[in-house]
Amino acid sequence: MGTGNKRKAAVDTNACVACGCCVKVCPMSAIQVWRGIRAEVDEARCVGCGRCVRECPASVIVLREVQV
Ligand code: SF4
Ligand code: SF4
Repeated sequence: MGTGNKRKAAVDTNACVACGCCVKVCPMSAIQVWRGIRAEVDEARCVGCGRCVRECPASVIVLREVQV
């Protein structure tokens, strides 16, 4: 991994069931459930810790490499 890469959480929004489990475990308050419909990640806050990925009961969050 280069110094210009960081990991960020990404939600498959079509498969998200809006349970809010990811919101509760995120230490950076980087996920919110938008209008009770789907989770959205604020990439500026996300530190790529992966807690939301492990917590999501629908397994719809992944960590992806992004260029910064
Ligand atoms: S990877 Fe960590 S910081 Fe990023 S949204 Fe998930 S729980 Fe929050
Ligand atoms: S834990 Fe998974 S299913 Fe639940 S709101 Fe978050 S992304 Fe959606």
